[in-house]
Amino acid sequence: MPATATKAIPEGQILGRMEQHDHEEVLFCFDRATGLKAIIAIHDTTLGPALGGTRMWPYATEAEALNDVLRLSRGMTYKSALAGLDLGGGKAVIIGDARTQKTEAMFRRFGQFVDSLNGRYITAEDVGMSTAEMVNIKKETNSVAGLPEEMGGSGDPSPVTAYGVYCGMKAAAKQAYGSERLSGRKVSIQGGGNVGRGLAALLVKDGAQIFITDIHEDKLAAIKAEIPEVNVVKPEAIFELDVDIYAPCALGATVNDETLKKLKCSVICGAANNQLADEAVHGMAVMRKGILYAPDFLVNAGGIINCAWERKGYNRKAAMRQTEGIYDTALRIFRSSADLDIPTYLAANQAAEHRITSMREAGLRF
Ligand code: NAD
Repeated sequence: MPATATKAIPEGQILGRMEQHDHEEVLFCFDRATGLKAIIAIHDTTLGPALGGTRMWPYATEAEALNDVLRLSRGMTYKSALAGLDLGGGKAVIIGDARTQKTEAMFRRFGQFVDSLNGRYITAEDVGMSTAEMVNIKKETNSVAGLPEEMGGSGDPSPVTAYGVYCGMKAAAKQAYGSERLSGRKVSIQGGGNVGRGLAALLVKDGAQIFITDIHEDKLAAIKAEIPEVNVVKPEAIFELDVDIYAPCALGATVNDETLKKLKCSVICGAANNQLADEAVHGMAVMRKGILYAPDFLVNAGGIINCAWERKGYNRKAAMRQTEGIYDTALRIFRSSADLDIPTYLAANQAAEHRITSMREAGLRF
């Protein structure tokens, strides 16, 4: 076998990064035969096994992949804790091009790495992955969720995620306007993908006025055909609109210095992960601007709730009912943010940390 060309990993730096946010374990996975290069990060398993999707992305550097997996796995700890799930936080990344480099052998090998963690990490879909890959992973491990419905799985979580965002938006409207009614409210949705489209349908049914955009014209045309009531706008126009609510449902970091100069909304509530470009800076900035920000990891928890039900024996109705709980949790977070005069993201972080710490202190570890 030829010698590996990978550069030496600066161990101290990685352990230092783990220490920064208390990551429990990071597993680097390499397999020459299948070309697999992956990193699995387990952030915290106090509440239960670390459940979080696998992202396949052509990261330019290993440092970029490591950064993403550390950040995303920590986010999952907070999301599950706040959703009241008995799950910890973890995530995996596969370095590669999801359009050209997927093979059955690669995902089976990845499944073996997941299995080597003995149930401490459970994987599912994320960007670049689909139920087809979960089926191949399942051939090697039971530590997988997000399987197709015909295999007893929970299928695509997006409709449940969209419903959770909708419930969170109602709570935000209640806090911001004194009424949860969304009828007549103007809502801009960035991203007409699986969640954005589902959210638009729910809001139109409620009588809200929707402005939606996507970078793909064909997606917008399909949405307009399916939901004729929506107004389609150009991607660059989405931040300039005179709306009540902005719903980021594309990528992260869209709440930043530039967009905050343009946004005219009084509520931000959407599905995208990591909406605040810098949590501390922009979390405070939205508050100062008088915008109620519904923390993303709070309102987009429908997907993880759906996966959690798959582990217990899937029950769609029960998953939807638990997702409805996002309304009460969101109201509780908004009120505690107002009472303590702190940004909503911080109130949400503190609630999640409180649950984890109290279990740890009581010795109730997974
Ligand atoms: P998706 O890939 O189906 O949709 C995203 C859409 O955003 C795509 O249609 C894409 O073309 C569009 N887009 C990308 N950049 C854009 C831009 N600059 N302007 C306008 N549109 C743009 O993804 P999804 O499953 O709908 O998820 C949406 C977001 O919610 C993602 O950030 C995802 O990580 C997050 N999320 C999804 C789930 C879920 O269950 N699907 C759960 C939690 C969080």
